[in-house]
Formats: sequence, C-alpha cells, structure tokens
Amino acid sequence: MRISFLGLGAIGRPMAARVAKLHQLTVWNRTADRAIAFAGEHGAVAAGTPRAAVSGADVVITCLPTSRDVEGLLDGPDGIEAGLASGTLFLDCTSGDAATTRRMAARLAKRNVSLVDAPVSGGTNGAEAGTLTVMVGGDAATFERAVPVLQAFGKRIVHMGPLGTGDAMKAVNNTLLGVNILALAESLTGLVKAGVHPRVAVETLNASSGRSFVSEALIPDRVLTGAWPRTFRLALLDKDVGICLAQLRDLGLDAPLLERAGELLHQARTALGEDADYLEPIRLQEGRTGTAIRG
Ligand code: NDP
Repeated sequence: MRISFLGLGAIGRPMAARVAKLHQLTVWNRTADRAIAFAGEHGAVAAGTPRAAVSGADVVITCLPTSRDVEGLLDGPDGIEAGLASGTLFLDCTSGDAATTRRMAARLAKRNVSLVDAPVSGGTNGAEAGTLTVMVGGDAATFERAVPVLQAFGKRIVHMGPLGTGDAMKAVNNTLLGVNILALAESLTGLVKAGVHPRVAVETLNASSGRSFVSEALIPDRVLTGAWPRTFRLALLDKDVGICLAQLRDLGLDAPLLERAGELLHQARTALGEDADYLEPIRLQEGRTGTAIRG
C-alpha cells in the first residue's frame, strides 16, 4: 500500500518506522530535516509539503499533538484536503478530541475520504516493538479497512464505537495515568520521609494491592534509577486530561477528584515547561518535600 505519515514526533517516528518495513511510505514533518533524516534511515520518501505527501496515497496517517493541529493541515495552499484522492483512508493517531474529529470526518466525507480516530497507548517503547493498543472510533466498515494498516504498530486494535470514541477512551486512560503519577509522587515521597528505603517501598507496593502500571513499569526504570528519560511530554498529558474533563462536563457529570488532578498537572506543566517529561511532577514533589525516590 502507498501510505503517507505526517508527524514524526516522539511516538510518530517509531510508528512510521514500522510502517516503512511493510509499505511504500512517504513522510512529512513540520521541521523538514527530521523527515529527510527519517527517509534516509528507513527507505521512505520525504515530501516537502503536506499536500505533496498525501498525493497518490491510499492511506494517510497523522500523529500530531492535537486534533486542531491535524485540522490545520487540511487548509491552505499546502493543505491536504484538496490533495486527497476519493476513497482514501485517513487514520488520525493523534490523541485528539471528539468534536474536532467529527468535524474533520464530516468535511472529508464530502470527498469520499473516510477518517477514523485511532489514538494509541503503549509509549515509545511499544511503538518500536509494534505492541501499541489502538483505540478506534468510526463505523465498522472503516474499522475493518483500518485494522491491517494499524497492525504495523498495533497489537490490540479495539473498535471503541462511533467517531470520537477512540479519543474519549484515550483521554480517560491518560487521565488515570496522570492521577497515578500524582498519587505515587505524594505517597512515595511520604514513605521516604517516614524512613522507608525507596526501592523497598516500590518493591513492596508492587507485590501488594496498591500497585499500578506507573509503579511497576515506570518508577523502577525511570525514577529509582534517576534516568528521567523524555518520552512523552507532560504538556501532552495535561492536554489529554483537559479533553477528559471537558467530556465529563459536557455530559453534566461532576468529577472532583479528576478536576483536582487536572489542576495539579496543569500547575506542574506551568512550573516545568513545555518540554518536561510526564513523570517530572514526581521530581517537583521530591523538591517540595526535600526527598528523592532513588536507590
Ligand atoms: P511530540 O511533541 O514529540 O511531536 C509532535 C509532532 O507534531 C512533531 O513531529 C511536530 O513537528 C509536529 N507538530 C507539532 N505541531 C504541529 C503543527 N501545528 N502542525 C504540524 N505539525 C506539528 O509529540 P508525540 O509524538 O509524543 O505525540 C503525538 C501524539 O501522540 C500526541 O497527541 C500525543 O498525546 C500522542 N501520544 C504520545 C505518546 C508518547 O509516548 N510520546 C504515547 C501515546 C500517544 P516538529 O518536528 O516540527 O516539532
């Protein structure tokens, strides 16, 4: 298949690398140097504009920070909308918002282009390994067409329901991730302050009922070691929690715990900046409490 991949960021790059192994790939990235370097490394073609990238494509995959960024690619002299052929399959792997997804899908449907929201979970390691979970929103026929393409980087590919439900699921998942990070920051610094060795605290937790993905998969490798790799920007996690909270408000539902977590993550983003990693709120809490979860 001829596939175009737009957005070679932290997760887009390894996803596109897996697509390149199976299909004829054209890539585009806002910072052109990154697309050129990627194309050289993975045997893909680097296009100079989004429109050139999608020309002749059977499938277009986008992975940008927000749905609005994807919508922005549709317009303008280099915009992709006019360049998409009738029958193109458009897979938006951005962790996006349902309202913008539905607006884009309605617009593209007039050109006989089928868009689904297909946000992913599993991190940059999961993208490299091809083990991502993909949460797809759209009609059943488009989902069936999307599955073989998404298998390039996805292991569990789930049809969540109609358009926007992939976005909704992803926003909830990441809100729970954020809650876990904040809860572990507060509770582990508390244990260290109380005199428990950080590694003993984490290992005991991970053999007990309070454990989570964050405590099992992230804290040992990234916090106890002091490695703090940058794989997913805190700004993007904050964006995801904002989407989840807006969904709940639209439904008229109160979510005081999640609202508070959203405020705290947003404060951490303001304090740490746009390039900080999503685990760095833990580092902030270490600073506040004069402790370090290391060892
Ligand atoms: P990054 O911030 O690392 O990369 C963003 C990418 O989008 C870059 O290629 C950037 O180009 C491009 N970009 C940013 N703004 C625009 C714009 N207005 N128009 C065109 N291109 C733009 O993000 P990630 O790759 O980490 O995340 C992408 C999406 O995937 C997000 O929705 C995120 O929430 C989600 N996600 C990320 C995961 C992760 O582990 N990183 C895990 C799961 C989901 P340039 O190179 O020029 O900056």
